[in-house]
Amino acid sequence: MTQLLLKKARIFDGWHADCAENMQVLVADGRIQEISQGPIKIADDARVIDASGLTLMPGMIDAHVHAFASDVAVARVEALGEAYRAAYATRMLNHALQCGFTTVRDVGGGNYSLYRALADGLIAGPRYFYAGRILSMTGGHGDMRQLEERPRYYSACACGDGPLANSFSVLADGVDECIKSAREELRQGAHCIKIMGSGGVLSPTDPIWMNQYREDEIRAIVNECTERRSYVAAHCHPASAVRRCVEYGVRSIEHGTLIDDDTAEFVARHGAFIVPTMAVCFALVETGRKLGLPSESQEKVEQIAREAISGLDRMRRAGVDVCYGTDLLGSTHVQQCREFTIRREVFSPLELLRQATSTPAEMMLMQGQIGCVAPGAHADLLLVEGDPLKDISVLAADGQFLRLIVRGGEVVKDRMS
Ligand code: ZN
Ligand code: ZN
Repeated sequence: MTQLLLKKARIFDGWHADCAENMQVLVADGRIQEISQGPIKIADDARVIDASGLTLMPGMIDAHVHAFASDVAVARVEALGEAYRAAYATRMLNHALQCGFTTVRDVGGGNYSLYRALADGLIAGPRYFYAGRILSMTGGHGDMRQLEERPRYYSACACGDGPLANSFSVLADGVDECIKSAREELRQGAHCIKIMGSGGVLSPTDPIWMNQYREDEIRAIVNECTERRSYVAAHCHPASAVRRCVEYGVRSIEHGTLIDDDTAEFVARHGAFIVPTMAVCFALVETGRKLGLPSESQEKVEQIAREAISGLDRMRRAGVDVCYGTDLLGSTHVQQCREFTIRREVFSPLELLRQATSTPAEMMLMQGQIGCVAPGAHADLLLVEGDPLKDISVLAADGQFLRLIVRGGEVVKDRMS
């Protein structure tokens, strides 16, 4: 891989509002090798890019996606099969990269197969972290059976069907099944384990307000992850679910839509993270019916969308570490940048920049590796027209203001000449 020298760059490093000016950044072997105010020695065949007038910043992180969620109706996702889902993932991931997301965390349905397709360069996309299949209790948010469907019981026998599952979640009840399912996902390379900690929108039989999983089940899963030097992410809408999951050791709360002030302070005090997902709420409220979202799901999403913005404000006032996440489904995936537009009602540009770079990197135990411009980090970089610290909308325009996108030292978008 040829060396890349970015010169005369103004750098937002992922953390600080005061940007260093007129800097040289050397990229080689996929990493940032050197950052210097003075000249840097380079190879004869190195590519030199003059970055003057542009802002150099870390490639962004979307900490809540589902690469295989090819439709808003889960039943159709399953029915259309693996080839369709893989084709959708290819399009969705490529779009994400062209919007400046050089890392995504897939918190449900992602797998090693897709990871390898990206790693081997078969498809273009962001750096890909996956949680594997989500652990859900029977009758929980991962249980997609309709009310009238008869129960099917877990088959423990080696010749049986194994645990009840779909391509996004696996049903595990009781400490032993939870441990076994967590270990199975971790064995298959899961970056973290995702659990359903409360009711949700897409599942047909569980109310949003319902807390899911018992304390001993959650703690057992957390323990498995801790031993693996990984962590647990939990889908939670109501404040009660957020609070107990954090209390039992969950690191990353997904959604947190119905949070209250006390709980937000509790999360901040315990150093846990929240990944709100406004884009999916607003997209489904607007277009869910048209796209065939079942009516019980439509009612649920309208309920949580009403609280969504005030929840964000509670997190901001309590000082919660908030990460960028979108959770978009089907054709709505093209709204990935809209999360900025919604959140700017509550957060400053600097807060939003951190939410999309250094904060999710820390949450994912990848601090200093991604989400920053620093020596030794992966060379995931953007050259932005304008100043995102003054006007975040330059990042909310589907990559329109990105002149250069570099992922792992490789130029994946080039509008410099
Ligand atoms: Zn969820
Ligand atoms: Zn999700």
